[in-house]
Amino acid sequence: MKKTLFVIKLLILFISMPVTVSAVSEISLSKIDRPQNAILFIVDGFGSSYFYPEYSPEGLDGSALVKARAGNFSFGARVADIRTGRPVTGIAHSMIVTGFSDAFEETVGYPDATIFDVTREHGFVNLAVMQTGDFINMRNEQDIILYAENNSVEDPLMTIQAEKAPPGIYDVMYEWKMKLPAYMNKTKGVGKYIALNRWGIDSANAVATEMIKKHPSQRFFLTMNIGEIDSGGHNMGDDDYVKLIEALDADFYPIYRTALENNIALFVTADHGMSFATLNARRGGHSSDKYSTKLESVRIPFIILSPNTVTGVIAGEYGQEDIAPTLLSVLDLPSNLQYSDGNAINIKKYASVFVRSDPKYKVSLWNNGQKVSERSDSEVIFSGLPLNSSYTIKATGNGINFEEKVSLDSDKQFNLIKPGRGSSISNRGLIAIILILIVNITGILIIKRIKD
Ligand SMILES: [Zn+2]
Repeated sequence: MKKTLFVIKLLILFISMPVTVSAVSEISLSKIDRPQNAILFIVDGFGSSYFYPEYSPEGLDGSALVKARAGNFSFGARVADIRTGRPVTGIAHSMIVTGFSDAFEETVGYPDATIFDVTREHGFVNLAVMQTGDFINMRNEQDIILYAENNSVEDPLMTIQAEKAPPGIYDVMYEWKMKLPAYMNKTKGVGKYIALNRWGIDSANAVATEMIKKHPSQRFFLTMNIGEIDSGGHNMGDDDYVKLIEALDADFYPIYRTALENNIALFVTADHGMSFATLNARRGGHSSDKYSTKLESVRIPFIILSPNTVTGVIAGEYGQEDIAPTLLSVLDLPSNLQYSDGNAINIKKYASVFVRSDPKYKVSLWNNGQKVSERSDSEVIFSGLPLNSSYTIKATGNGINFEEKVSLDSDKQFNLIKPGRGSSISNRGLIAIILILIVNITGILIIKRIKD
C-alpha cells in the first residue's frame, strides 16, 4: 500500500512540473520604476488594532487596552482596513500566499496555487526565513528556507531545507543559525521573545544583503515570518504583547532600510491579530470561539513600500485574499493564481495588461484607433499604461480574431488559450489535484484501519 502511495506521489510530482517552456514578452509604454526584488514580512499575531493610528484596541469586556508606539510601521501605502476571514495561523498563511479565501495548508501544495509559483515562473528565486507558518507545503515552495523546527522560545531549534539555493546562501543561513544562541544568551521573560524576533529579522536581512552583493542580477522573493509576537500574546499579558510590538518596531528598521536603498518592494502583514479578555489579562488568544470574531483578532496590517506604488492611507475594506494579487501587481507579474478569489488593491501608479497567448497569435494594443504595440509570445505584458485610460486589445492569426476594449482602472488579464487547446498546464493541475485527493483519502483510510 505504501509503495502504491509513493508511486502516486511521484506521479503527482511529474504531472505538476511545467510542460511548456513559456516565453514572456514585455513592453513598457512609459518609464516605470519597478522593484527588482521583494520581501514579504509576515508577523504572526500582529493585530493592526494595537498600533494603527485609526484604532483603539478593546478587551472582550469592552475595556480599553494599551496601544503600542510603532512609528516605523507608517511608511508607504498603508491599507487601513484589511481582515482575515480565518484567524488561524496555518490557514491564514495559506490565504496570504494563494489569494484564496477558502485556502488551507493543502492548497499551498497544488500546482500554480501560490505567489511562489508565479515568481519562480518569472525568474525569481524563492528564499525564506520563517519562525511560524512554515508547514511542509510552505517549505516545499521555497528554493531554500531557514525555519524553526519547534515553536519554543526556551529552546528554539532552527533547520535549513535547501532545494536550488543560489551559491553562498546556504552558508549565510548556516552562519545565522549558529548565531542564535548568542542572541538568546542571558535573556529572560519578554526579553527572550524580543531576542528571537530580532534574530529572525537580522537573519533575513543578512540573506537579502548577500543576494544584493553576490547575485545582483538574480531577482529574489524573500518570505519571512516573525513568530514571537504571537507566542508572547498567548503566554503573557496585553502589556507584554504591546512591549513586543514596540521592540519589533525598533528592530524592523534595518531591513526597512535595506529595502528602501536597494529597490526592494517590502510588504508587511500578519496572519491574524490577538485578543485579550480584559486589561491586564495574563494570556491572549485569536482562534478559539471566544476570540475569533473579535476585530482585534481579525484586523491585520498591510503596508507596502515600493517605488511604483502610491504613498498614504488606503481607504476601503479588504480581505486577506487580496494580499497575493496586490503583491503580484506591484511586482508587475500576472495574477495567475489558480484558486484566488482576491483582487489587487489599487496602489500601483500605472496599469499593466497581461495576456496569456499562443506564440502563433499576434497580440496588439490599440489606443484611439492607433496601434501602440504588437508582439507574439506565450505571455505578452504591456506595462506602464496610464491609469483610467482606455485601450483595445486585439489578437489575430492562427484562427483567432479577438478584440476587447478595456478601461484601465487597474491591471487587466486576458487568457487567449482556449480550454483543450494548449491549456495542458491547467488540465495537468486538475489531474494532480485528483491524485492528491486519492492519496489523502487513502491515507485517512489506512489511519482509520490502524486505529480500528
Ligand atoms: Zn498565527
